[in-house]
Amino acid sequence: MPRKITLADGRTVEVDCLSCALTSGLITPTGGVIYETNLFHIHQDVAYPIRGLIILASKRHFYGMDELTEAEQNEYISLIHKIRRAQRERLGIDKVYYFYNEDTTHHFHLWMVPRYEWMEAFGGSVESLRPVLLHARNQMNNEENMKAVFEGIDELREALHRERIS
Ligand SMILES: [Zn+2]
Repeated sequence: MPRKITLADGRTVEVDCLSCALTSGLITPTGGVIYETNLFHIHQDVAYPIRGLIILASKRHFYGMDELTEAEQNEYISLIHKIRRAQRERLGIDKVYYFYNEDTTHHFHLWMVPRYEWMEAFGGSVESLRPVLLHARNQMNNEENMKAVFEGIDELREALHRERIS
């Protein structure tokens, strides 16, 4: 059943699956596509303005890790590896939290959330994830930080296109 979703920039869309809408190009994510292959789509959800936060989504609509085809399995790990290297080399990101849940209303997608010093105020490991995201959304939506976020998107886009992944 279609759901009404309000995007970070205020646009409202009605879609069955936001991941399908994004990965098919029906909706362009704010900040643009960072990289895409025939199987996967890479972008940042700027609703959570954290520099270098990446979402890696499959183009195909499914939910379970055990549903990846062999080609998807191979490309998935290769893409994560290359994104992670670009985060480190271009943005100086030392640690990343990876988050993926199968009971999502969107389809298969991995969050790669950089760990910054300011996040330590919210605790460590998985318990800090939600407070960190909410803090970013509610307190860091300012011009200076958004500029840094968009610069981060450009850096990662440039790095991944230089790699020519597949
Ligand atoms: Zn979908």
